[in-house]
Amino acid sequence: MQTKLLINGQLIAGEGPSLAVLNPSLGTALVEIAEASPAQVDAAVRAADAAFPAWSQTSPKDRSTLLLKLADKIDAHAEELARLESQNCGKPYAAALNDELPAIADVFRFFAGASRCMSGSAAGEYLPGHTSMIRRDPVGVVASIAPWNYPLMMAAWKLGPALAAGNTVVLKPSEQTPLTALKLAEFIADIFPAGVVNLVFGRGPSVGEPLVTHPKVRMVSLTGSVATGSRIIAGTADSVKRMHMELGGKAPVIIFDDADIEAAVDGIRTFGFYNAGQDCTAACRIYAQKGIYEKFVAKLGEAVGSIRTGLQDDPATELGPLITEQHLQRVEGFVQRAAAVPHIQVVTGGARVEGPGFFFQPTVLAGARQDDEIVRREVFGPVVSVTQFDSEEQVLEWANDSDYGLASSLWTADVGRAHRLSARLQYGCTWVNTHFMLVSEMPHGGVKHSGYGKDMSMYGLEDYTAIRHVMFKH
Ligand code: NAD
Repeated sequence: MQTKLLINGQLIAGEGPSLAVLNPSLGTALVEIAEASPAQVDAAVRAADAAFPAWSQTSPKDRSTLLLKLADKIDAHAEELARLESQNCGKPYAAALNDELPAIADVFRFFAGASRCMSGSAAGEYLPGHTSMIRRDPVGVVASIAPWNYPLMMAAWKLGPALAAGNTVVLKPSEQTPLTALKLAEFIADIFPAGVVNLVFGRGPSVGEPLVTHPKVRMVSLTGSVATGSRIIAGTADSVKRMHMELGGKAPVIIFDDADIEAAVDGIRTFGFYNAGQDCTAACRIYAQKGIYEKFVAKLGEAVGSIRTGLQDDPATELGPLITEQHLQRVEGFVQRAAAVPHIQVVTGGARVEGPGFFFQPTVLAGARQDDEIVRREVFGPVVSVTQFDSEEQVLEWANDSDYGLASSLWTADVGRAHRLSARLQYGCTWVNTHFMLVSEMPHGGVKHSGYGKDMSMYGLEDYTAIRHVMFKH
């Protein structure tokens, strides 16, 4: 297993304290890995800073060639990477291999192409005797901080656009799930010039903070919780770094009386429980209209009750464990408090699964009201709430009544209504008659407390550039 950090092109062991990396399906340690020491964090940033002048001057074609090589390498090692990811996250192996790995390689291929298509928006004479042009140039050293729910995918979302735009990077994967990023570092060491990509392993306070506050870091890109995002923003305010924040979510899912109920139930069974609901876009805050509410809740309870929980290597497994015992306790706490509310019914699930590992039953909580904690706070587990609504205006108000603003969906047969509502939902994405689907060409990112900046798409690439004006006097 590759457990070394990548600093200035060299794979070297961490010199900080060792941390156990677990398999959450069993609750046992897979390996112990030493964190980066403060001196190693500093060395990684200095290596990235030293590599920046040359890398930022490479042609888009050359950067693209290396990104394509990395994508090919990921394809060639897809089974090994999927195995590591599934062991480290407990997620079903088949889902990691067939859903995640192709999408990860595609992110690098997309940005390989995108880097060659980036353009400035103007070149012309806006003042007599002067020619102006707009350039999009790289920002400098980017500190990229990733979460544990899709470790390799998040590494790809961060590295792809940053490198395509000509920046150098120090990546810190989550301390809980570093294994695939560490393997990726081995490939990167063979493909990219020394210092262009560096990887440090460790916890937020000991490794993340010295990294993001380092004076040579020009931009911080975080995918993580709102609490971590605000802490980083506050902690780096003095040095006015560029920020790219992809934070939490609590997606409203609006089901109208005229929706295809079977499709909506099927969609929530999949998109509310994929990755055990540990997904910032998870279809978790359901609003069902009065006319179909009872029928919908019954069907959803039946469908969710049939989701198969199990070990990552069993092909029948649909739902894996939560990431840690601590997170399991957090999810359990949300459900126990909700179940104790008199108007909430536990339709299915509601408890942890006895035995090893950090499993929680797929859970549907019906009868929830707008002000209930379960409707307002991000649970990040296999738990959905259902709230009954009467009218379009009421549900629009409730859906928008959230500090989160990442993803939303609405399910209806009325095209006019779909347009009307999707124009007014305050979310970075609205899906109509589906949920959760992402493509490399389209932007992913939030509004409000869900953050700012886009992942993927040309907008994602542009986020990793600085707009510059160059003016020539004739
Ligand atoms: P987290 O905020 O606890 O940790 C995220 C990363 O930040 C980890 O690598 C962690 O070590 C690091 N970190 C923590 N404190 C830090 C500090 N002070 N300085 C620098 N780095 C620090 O989040 P998590 O529990 O790993 O992930 C779950 C959260 O991520 C959820 O809220 C989820 O919604 C969000 N998320 C958002 C998206 C999105 O695209 N918007 C995608 C996936 C996950």
